Amino acid sequence: MSGVLVVMEQRPSGAQAEKAAWHRMSWETLAAGQQLAAQLGLKVYAAVVGQGVGALAQELARKKLDHVHAVEHALLATYTADGFTAALEQLIRKHSPSIVLFPHTYQVRDFAPKLATRFHQVLVSDAVGFRVESGAPIFVRQLFQGKLNADVRLGGGEPHFASIQAGAFRAEQVADGTSQVESFAPELTADIIRAKPHEPFRESARAVDLTSADIIVSVGRGIKEKDNIPIVEELAKALGAELAASRPICDSGWLPMERQVGSSGQTVSPKMYLAVGISGAIQHLVGMKGAKTIVAINKDANAPIFEVADYGIVGDLFEVVPALIEEVKKARG
Ligand SMILES: Cc1cc2nc3c(=O)[nH]c(=O)nc-3n(C[C@H](O)[C@H](O)[C@H](O)COP(=O)(O)OP(=O)(O)OC[C@H]3O[C@@H](n4cnc5c(N)ncnc54)[C@H](O)[C@@H]3O)c2cc1C
Repeated sequence: MSGVLVVMEQRPSGAQAEKAAWHRMSWETLAAGQQLAAQLGLKVYAAVVGQGVGALAQELARKKLDHVHAVEHALLATYTADGFTAALEQLIRKHSPSIVLFPHTYQVRDFAPKLATRFHQVLVSDAVGFRVESGAPIFVRQLFQGKLNADVRLGGGEPHFASIQAGAFRAEQVADGTSQVESFAPELTADIIRAKPHEPFRESARAVDLTSADIIVSVGRGIKEKDNIPIVEELAKALGAELAASRPICDSGWLPMERQVGSSGQTVSPKMYLAVGISGAIQHLVGMKGAKTIVAINKDANAPIFEVADYGIVGDLFEVVPALIEEVKKARG
């Protein structure tokens, strides 16, 4: 194959009539794969692994790819590190891609290093970008909570393995096209799968998925106390946005942990991220710098958040936010 293979992640359909669905980061990784392949002059392929993945594979076939691999087996119906590693190892040995890309999801963190070692390779994990120099890709990884960027050159033989950080590439940049689906039935036996999967972890109905929000209003310590949170809640409501927060807000229990953005919270890439009373510490920035447009409200003109903001309002949030709510309501009728 000697191209770039993107291993997509999907959540299988569940018992409660849910349809199988893509992990959103899969599309971001596919965009990365298409761009990397174009720069290297290589072909690009995508693989979907599971059981009954025909419809997902057909969806992939409408993207600009050279082939889609539908890797199917009854023992892949539920994710296990052993099953996915064995199946992908067989696919990779058969087609010999140069580079295998994954979204840097929890599932990928679980099995991809093991898969890489089957080829005596390492996984270049959580890459935020790449560039091509003298025909060879160099992946960029962040170190020390984003304080340093490290270039990673790929040594040794092929294939190389890398995972892509959430928000590093934009899902809407995936190029459309047409391609063929090729079925691949790996040889798997139950005895190689040592884990016994239980029911997949299901978040409670109220759990928020900030990663799929288009607009996020995020609040920081500038809000001063818990009783003031409704001010930003109202702004979020007026904008049809999800509410998020910096770590101190969640640590104080003013908003639930699942709303925390940053290195120890969620990584988000909405169309608009409105940071209210957030200073812009590096641990916060790494979680939201992938937003398309960043708006910051802060009374300190030197706050680091303004370095990444597209629009900045220097002012007291207790004056600015109510005025914004009024204007948004007027504009929305
Ligand atoms: C290992 C580690 C992991 C971490 N992970 C995360 C993480 O995932 N997410 C995260 O967010 N942080 C994380 N942090 C914490 C991070 O370092 C910062 O302490 C935190 O992001 C600061 O939050 P803040 O901006 O809300 O508060 P502050 O830094 O206190 O900033 C408050 C801001 O509000 C402004 N302000 C005050 N009053 C007003 C007003 N009336 N109107 C307008 N502006 C006002 C101030 O000028 C200031 O800029 C982590 C730290 C460590 C060490």
